[in-house]
Amino acid sequence: MIRLTSYLVSRWFVGSGRFVTLVDPSTEEILAEASSEGADFGAALDHARQVGSPALRALSFAERALLLKDMAVILHANREEFLDIAQKNGGNTRGDAKFDVDGAIGTLAAYATFGEALARRVGDRRFLTDGDMFPLTRSPRFVGQHVWVPRTGVAVHINAFNFPAWGTFEKAAVALLAGIPIISKPATATALLTWRMTQVLVASGRLPEGCFQLVVGSTGDLLSRLGPQDHLAFTGSNATGSLLRGTPGFASRSVRVTVEADSLNATVSGPDVEPGSDLWNTFVRNIVTDMTQKTGQKCTAIRRVFVPEAHADALQEALVDALAGVVVGNPLTPGVTMGPVSTASQLKDALAGIGALSEHATVVCGGAERVAGRGAPDGKGYYVAPTVLRATDPKNAGPVHDLEVFGPVVTIVPYDGTAESAADLVALGQGSLVASAVSDDRAWVERFALGAAPSLGRLLLLSSKVADQATAPGLVLPSMVHGGPGRAGGGEELGGERGLLFYMQRTALQGDSAVIGKAFAVAKEPVS
Ligand code: NAP
Repeated sequence: MIRLTSYLVSRWFVGSGRFVTLVDPSTEEILAEASSEGADFGAALDHARQVGSPALRALSFAERALLLKDMAVILHANREEFLDIAQKNGGNTRGDAKFDVDGAIGTLAAYATFGEALARRVGDRRFLTDGDMFPLTRSPRFVGQHVWVPRTGVAVHINAFNFPAWGTFEKAAVALLAGIPIISKPATATALLTWRMTQVLVASGRLPEGCFQLVVGSTGDLLSRLGPQDHLAFTGSNATGSLLRGTPGFASRSVRVTVEADSLNATVSGPDVEPGSDLWNTFVRNIVTDMTQKTGQKCTAIRRVFVPEAHADALQEALVDALAGVVVGNPLTPGVTMGPVSTASQLKDALAGIGALSEHATVVCGGAERVAGRGAPDGKGYYVAPTVLRATDPKNAGPVHDLEVFGPVVTIVPYDGTAESAADLVALGQGSLVASAVSDDRAWVERFALGAAPSLGRLLLLSSKVADQATAPGLVLPSMVHGGPGRAGGGEELGGERGLLFYMQRTALQGDSAVIGKAFAVAKEPVS
């Protein structure tokens, strides 16, 4: 059995006890064990602050971009091995594994490109300007200029089990381009992939010392040691995110925290979208993709489907038809199109969640029972059937607007077809990562978008003109902000250069235009 290690202070560290086992969720075979017990997190923080941080801050944006590009190339050269691990430890189909691994490599490459563009704009400067220099009094000599400088601390990244590759490296790409060293902690249950990717990067010798450390297992006293220049970027459940925000010392030391948590994402069709039309088919296809890709274990997956009452039966029929073709089982078995959920506790939670939803909505297909997976040993594997429920009263649908069932599950919620009602229903999710609206009625779309946007981090507006070019609602793009208000965590990640600002300090400089103008102004444009 593989024993996973942490990479701390430029050495591989073997934990001394309380091992957690990692399994193949398709078969329940034990694959590895992990523990970080005994790790010296004080030393890890010193190493990042005293070695990693100065090394990274000494690099220009062009040099950091090159580092990201090289990391993408090194990881890509080992892609096949990573895909195999994702299939084994994550229960991923090959397509799901690519979504995670290629997403990681693609985001590193995208941030390399953003960094190159930044370098063309700011040259060798290690800071960014925000807006132009401007006079502060009647004298043109006394001016103000805002600048963004990299902070001198550490970024602790804690990630969820569902994207051990993408989650780790989408965060890493942004922090490294900003000039901040990382201590990264994947969810233990699926950490095999992150561990192996880190091994490959470390072995390449390309990582500047102290800029990337890995914790496999518990974070021990790491978080309570964070200080005023440090950051925590957390992705996971709302419950854990809320707990970690309350870490002793975070409030008094103003440790910067961003949280990406769970979310009741929605899709809405407008009354103009006729069943059977191309636009309708895109609407249905996106729902099926979100239910089955990663077995519904995507933070951005559609959970609630709002459809005008007159079209609810047609939608139900279309989804049941499409899902009848889904083959649930061990992704290594030919013909399987959807794998298991990733852990025993996810299985328990998903089935309990379907049970809770079914007290307020009718199960149309699937259900709250564990199912047998094709190609799995008898009675083994964490398999859930794709499940559709249908609510009757949109505003009193109980947990439909409140409980994220992290699996292949959606609830159809018929509504009156008005843009205002649709926006109100989206808002019942109390803040979501993403929603999509499907309509060719521009006035309806505009009213819906303005009504729903305050509750959303991202909104995909699908019309006939873009349906065949648009990305799926669940796909997070490095150039677009990822995050959401309220229960989605209130955080933001990615969004091109915007993502860097979490790791930088905005300082207002006031003084002599001759000094400030020469050393700090000349920004051609503000950060955007
Ligand atoms: P989780 O149980 O909250 O765990 C998330 C991470 O927090 C794991 O690495 C976990 O480590 C760690 N953790 C738990 N307790 C901790 C503590 N006391 N101190 C330090 N770290 C701690 O969530 P999950 O089950 O992995 O992920 C599923 C959830 O993540 C879903 O709700 C999903 O919506 C959300 N998610 C959100 C996004 C987004 O971008 N918004 C993306 C993906 C997933 P261990 O594994 O070692 O316990």
